[in-house]
Amino acid sequence: MSYCASRFRTVRRRTVEVKVGALGVGGANPIRLQSMTTSDTQDVAATVRQSIALAEVGCEIVRITAPNVPAAKCLKEIRAQLTAAGFGHVPLVADIHFLPAAAMEAVEHVEKVRVNPGNYADKKKFAVKEYTDADYAAELERLHAAFSPLVRRARELGRALRIGTNHGSLSDRIMNRYGDTPLGMVESALEFLRIARSHSFHGLILSMKASNPKVMIQAYRLLVDRMQREDMHYPLHLGVTEAGDGEDGRIKSAIGIGSLLLDGLGDTIRVSLTEDSVYEIPVAQAIADKAMSLWPDPAGVAPGREAGSTHDAVDPYHFTKRETATLHLSGRCAVGPEQPPRVIVRAPSVGQLAATAAALGSPRLKETPAEGLLVPVASAGDLGTLCEVAARTALGVDFLALELGPAITPDLVRPLVALSPGRLMLVRAFAPAETAQFAAFAETVRAHGHFLAAEIAPDDVPAFADAIRAQGGAGLVFTLAAPAGAGHATGAYRRLADALRAAGSNAPLWIRNTAATAVRGDNSFLSKLLEASFLTGGLLCDGLGDLVSIETESDPARATTLAYNVLQGAGARISKTEFVACPSCGRTLFDLQSTTQRIREKTGHLKGVKIAIMGCIVNGPGEMADADFGYVGGAPGKINLYVGKQCVQYNIPQAEADARLIALIREHGKWADPDPVAAGR
Ligand code: SF4
Repeated sequence: MSYCASRFRTVRRRTVEVKVGALGVGGANPIRLQSMTTSDTQDVAATVRQSIALAEVGCEIVRITAPNVPAAKCLKEIRAQLTAAGFGHVPLVADIHFLPAAAMEAVEHVEKVRVNPGNYADKKKFAVKEYTDADYAAELERLHAAFSPLVRRARELGRALRIGTNHGSLSDRIMNRYGDTPLGMVESALEFLRIARSHSFHGLILSMKASNPKVMIQAYRLLVDRMQREDMHYPLHLGVTEAGDGEDGRIKSAIGIGSLLLDGLGDTIRVSLTEDSVYEIPVAQAIADKAMSLWPDPAGVAPGREAGSTHDAVDPYHFTKRETATLHLSGRCAVGPEQPPRVIVRAPSVGQLAATAAALGSPRLKETPAEGLLVPVASAGDLGTLCEVAARTALGVDFLALELGPAITPDLVRPLVALSPGRLMLVRAFAPAETAQFAAFAETVRAHGHFLAAEIAPDDVPAFADAIRAQGGAGLVFTLAAPAGAGHATGAYRRLADALRAAGSNAPLWIRNTAATAVRGDNSFLSKLLEASFLTGGLLCDGLGDLVSIETESDPARATTLAYNVLQGAGARISKTEFVACPSCGRTLFDLQSTTQRIREKTGHLKGVKIAIMGCIVNGPGEMADADFGYVGGAPGKINLYVGKQCVQYNIPQAEADARLIALIREHGKWADPDPVAAGR
């Protein structure tokens, strides 16, 4: 596996430095933050204003769309005005789709040009065609002729180029040969990379964006693997495209970008949100700060410096859920290979158990219920109080998890275990010398059909191997005792899963977000959200995790919702409508933010339905990937509606579009009336 030096700790991938104007990307430089203007590029004053606003909040690279040659010409004036305003140090990037002529104009004026290999020299027709090797070679020659002039001019002018692949806009040639896959994305970029290198041009940065974090993570890893094999070390621009807005947009971005940064990949990032671009920068900054805090040496560490194993058994290029035993935690709640990850919420103390249970009973959580309630039990007194509370309070969850302090022995807990009417999970940390205690607790729960969640450090698992085998895996769950050493908790959980495999255990894994697992925590909600996305979201995208808890969030309802939102972002458990919304740019034909919010209000309850809201017809249909329905700007004031990739209603007045979209969803049997209680109305 050559995509990263270690899956257990962050070892920054060594790349060449690419200069974007005076700004270095990759090499020993920090992670560079970037965003994009949303104004009409030909409105020079507005675009300059937006660029300055972005630079003032910390955006280091500003991208501007150049949808045609007149817009590309405007970049000259935009560059001049920005420089005159004191922002000459902020490089500009022209965003090009389809038009080589626009790229040739833009490269004269700005420091970097982004091309999309899916459409730079191709018109996407979704055509199904069998390409012979000769056909394919002829296509590559055509590509060479189309892309070479830009490469030659960029080399003459000292510009950088980004080869920016998007999952949703692969060319027909790539789609027919490789399919809509991470491999297709990688091959699409490599075709352009080879052309650039044939001209000895190396000012290259690459991206592999997708709206699905799993696809995006796999594509970047595969790209690096391919580049490493060919001794290519170009920097990466990371981003999850069409991530949407609000909490969901931040979570999706953090899962995709964070997973890769923890792997040591990524040199510049963009958090795409369907919000004003300036709101992207604090999120990007927080993500970058967390990742960079794990760099022991900003210049990176050469692969092979670590002793011992550096990789786990997970295939990082293909998603496979870890095979586990099935545990029935209640009559209606199980964990296992066929089950979605279950959500546990922590009550701060036994005294607050009833209040926490009441908060979890909110009608707003009807569709996203906490299934387990975790409560710390430190003493015999706590056990007594617990029994009293449980006797007079309907806790409303599928199971109770008792986090036992060291003072709680099997003898103390046995009467409760024997008499409990519902399923219990005993949660306890075990040091390597405590194998006898582990066996005693495991035996105690097993005798009464309950469960033991053992907190164990990865290095300690071998000490428990015999005891685990003796239990035959029945009733056991494992979770991480603490992040091991200098690594990150994601790496420690990967090591734990590997150690369990080596010990012959297929027990489910519980991913706990706690203060101890934070890469670099603070008490802000954004930090908690990012940490949960990094750890829980990243591990779920690797196929690890059967139970999850966000224990850093003390508000029970918010902890529950955040857990479900992370599960949705990772595609591990779908509890609501999935929105794919483009961030908007100079091509956008309607107000994306208000439209997205309006459509979300009307359709946000359609569990499992995927709706794309895209600002333009030029890129929208291609980029909305695998959405069930699409709402796409067709012309000013006009909307095109899609079912899958097929446009079924053209140029309908925008005022009618919401109702027509809902009618279309009904027509295809995917509509359900909203539950007024769950909606809080
Ligand atoms: S889909 Fe959205 S972000 Fe992409 S080009 Fe069109 S308007 Fe711009």
